Amino acid sequence: MNLLFLGTGTSTGVPQIGCTCKVCVSDNEKDKRLRASVLISVGEYNILIDCGPDFRQQMIQNNVARISAVLLTHEHYDHVSGLDDLRPLGHVDVYAEKKVIGVIERNMPYCFEQKKYPGVPSIHLNRIEEKEFSINDLKIQPIRIMHAKLPILGFRINNFAYLTDVKSIEDSSIEQLKNLDVLVLNALRINRHISHLSLEEALDIARKIGAKETYFTHISHDMGLHNDVNSTLPAHVQIAYDGLLIEHVSQ
Ligand SMILES: [Zn+2]
Ligand SMILES: [Zn+2]
Repeated sequence: MNLLFLGTGTSTGVPQIGCTCKVCVSDNEKDKRLRASVLISVGEYNILIDCGPDFRQQMIQNNVARISAVLLTHEHYDHVSGLDDLRPLGHVDVYAEKKVIGVIERNMPYCFEQKKYPGVPSIHLNRIEEKEFSINDLKIQPIRIMHAKLPILGFRINNFAYLTDVKSIEDSSIEQLKNLDVLVLNALRINRHISHLSLEEALDIARKIGAKETYFTHISHDMGLHNDVNSTLPAHVQIAYDGLLIEHVSQ
């Protein structure tokens, strides 16, 4: 199983429109962050986690021609607004909780009409709950996490887990995250925020989970320069960046 970071930015992306801070004007490619999403590849099978407004650009930049399934963490725009760009990819199974499915059906009714307009995305919505499900032979365990007061999902696949937009995690969910090889977790910025983990809070949760390797994502320009912040982190914890590929994750 390979893991490719398609985007590691918060909802505004980095650079942020109109901003001239040192991060937004940095020449380092690692300081340019599209909206958060990862691609998991198992053989020929490509699973996308979240499909935000940069989805089309992410597919083209990384030469990805096929998406077999999409897992959605929650319904916020930076995680679902690329679904219309699934158009050229043929039939795609999308997996989400009931309330997320409701939002997609409301926002994209043209995809679910009896007589569809030619060319609309061929999306099949699969309702998931907090229990394990399978895509092909791959077992996927949804993990309940809290985005401030909004219950959302993370996903564990073998010894890999992807948790974004976390503000808090119950101990029962932490228990489901033991023995991970690779953890991806959100860390927005240095200062605290109402609905996202700060760097310090993310380090604390990463310590509790205790994965062999932890990568932070969903990052704001307020985090600071990639290289500056990354160099301060403990061993086995890193700030992810767009285009980072981790091969042979948890086979
Ligand atoms: Zn988000
Ligand atoms: Zn900025």
